[in-house]
Amino acid sequence: MLKGFSAELQRILIILAICSLIGFFSDNYALWMLIGCAIYILMMLWQMRRLNQWLLRQETDHPPEASGIWGQIFDNIYQLQRDQRGEKDNLQAVINRIQEISSALKDGLIILDARGHLDFWNPAAHRMLALHTKDQGQSVINFIRHPKFVSYFEEGNFEEPLELPSPRFPSKHLQFQITPFGKQERLIVVRDVTQLHNLEKMRQDFVANVSHELRTPLTVINGYVETLADNNSTPSWDKPLQQMQQQAKRMSLLINDLLVLSKLETTEAGHNHKPINIEQLLTIVKSEAEVLSKDKEQQLTLICNNTTKPLLLLGNEKELHSAFSNLVINAIKYTPNEGKVSVLLWQDQKHFYVSVSDNGPGIEAMHIPRLTERFYRVDASRNSSTGGTGLGLAIVKHVLMRHEAELKITSEPGKGSMFICVFPLPH
Ligand code: ADP
Repeated sequence: MLKGFSAELQRILIILAICSLIGFFSDNYALWMLIGCAIYILMMLWQMRRLNQWLLRQETDHPPEASGIWGQIFDNIYQLQRDQRGEKDNLQAVINRIQEISSALKDGLIILDARGHLDFWNPAAHRMLALHTKDQGQSVINFIRHPKFVSYFEEGNFEEPLELPSPRFPSKHLQFQITPFGKQERLIVVRDVTQLHNLEKMRQDFVANVSHELRTPLTVINGYVETLADNNSTPSWDKPLQQMQQQAKRMSLLINDLLVLSKLETTEAGHNHKPINIEQLLTIVKSEAEVLSKDKEQQLTLICNNTTKPLLLLGNEKELHSAFSNLVINAIKYTPNEGKVSVLLWQDQKHFYVSVSDNGPGIEAMHIPRLTERFYRVDASRNSSTGGTGLGLAIVKHVLMRHEAELKITSEPGKGSMFICVFPLPH
C-alpha cells in the first residue's frame, strides 16, 4: 500500500514540477498550476470510471491494468472478491451436503419458524405428512391436527417425544420429537415407530391373554388344594399341602396384578373419571390396611393437612385406591414389627401431595430409579419373605401417569422410605 502511495506522490510531484516549469517560462504560473491540478483530477476520474465499469461487469476476469495507488486498489478489491467467492463456494458446498444428508434420512425433519410455521422439510417428512411446496409458511397445526399434538406443541414441554397414529396412514404410528433452537425456531424429528408400536401391542396382548387364560385353571387348582387341605387326615401331607396353597395364592396375586397392569396399559386414560374425595379414599385405604399393621403391632397414622375444603380430584377411584393401597401395604410389609407408617395429605398453590413414609429398612440410592420397573426387587430374599409380586410400584406409576401425576421416592438405608405422589391441583 505504501509503495503505491509513494508512486502516486511521485506522479503528483512530476505533474506539478512540469506545470511549474512551463508556468515559469510562460510567465503564467498560477494558470499552469491549475492546469496541472485539473490534469491530475481528470486522471483520477478516469481511473474511478474504469473501476466502476469493472465492478459493474461483475466478471471474474482480472482487474484493469493500473499503476500507483489505483493499481493497488484494483488488486485489493480483486483479492477480496476472490476470498468472498471462495467462502461462498464453501458455504454452498456445506448447504448442498446438508441437503443431501437430510434427503437421505429415513426420519422426517421439519423446521418451523418462531411462529410455528413450516419453513423447511426433507423428503421423508413430505412422504409421511404429505407436505408440498405450496404449504410453506403455513402453521404446522394445520397438518398435524391431532388434539394430543396440538396440546403437546402449545404446552412447550418437549422433554419426552409424542407418539400418534399417522395423520396420513392411520395404520402407521409416528413419533414426534421437538427441539427448540435459534431464535424460537423448532426442529421436529418425525420417526416411523409402527414396528415398535406393534411389538409393544403384541407384548401387552400376550401378557393380558396369558394372565386371563391362567386365571381359570388356577382357580380350579386353588379350590382342590383347599378342599384337600381341609380334609387331609395324613399328617405327612400337611406341609406339602400348605406350601401348595401358599404358592397357588401367590400365583393368583401375580396374575391379578398382571391383569391390572395390562388394563392400565391398554385402556385409554380418562374413562370413568369422576370427582373423588381424596381424604375419604385415604381413610378407606388406612382402615383396610389396619388389619395388617395391627398384626405387626405397627403404628399407622393418617394426617390430612389440606385446606378446609375437601380435595376433589377428577379420576378413577378403583385405580387410585389400588395405587395408594400398594404404597401403604408395601410400607407395612417392609417395615419391621412395631414400626411406624404414616400417610400424609397436603397441598401448595399448584399441587397436592400424598406421601406414605415408614421407618423400615430403607432402600439404597442405586435401586431407587429402577423400583417402578416390573419385577424389580431390591433384595430377592426380602421379597420372598414378604410375598410380593414385584408389580406393585409399576401399577402405582401407571395409575399416577394416567392422572397426570408422578411418583417421587426418597429413602435412606436403615432410616426408612418416603413415597410421594404429586398431583396437579384440580381446577
Ligand atoms: P413387591 O411386590 O416386591 O413389593 P413392588 O413393585 O411393590 O413389588 O416393590 C418393588 C421393590 O421395592 C420391593 O421388592 C422392595 O424391595 C422395594 N420396596 C417397596 N416399598 C418399599 C418400602 N416401603 N421399604 C423398603 N423397600 C420397599
